[in-house]
Amino acid sequence: MTRGQWLQPRHGSHEAWEKDYPKLDPHGMDVACPGCRGVVKLIRRSPSGKLGGWCKPCNRGVGA
Ligand SMILES: [Zn+2]
Repeated sequence: MTRGQWLQPRHGSHEAWEKDYPKLDPHGMDVACPGCRGVVKLIRRSPSGKLGGWCKPCNRGVGA
């Protein structure tokens, strides 16, 4: 599995991340969280097309 990277800048909350990544992408890929190594589904896109997901255990945004 591809290893993900932290999204920069760091989002203060899940809600803030959802606002920055408002578009759902059902075809998103799975990556390994750079923190806990858990599986993170990248299911949202930013307006510029950047793919992102949210790692709940780390409470932090993850990208490809
Ligand atoms: Zn994690």
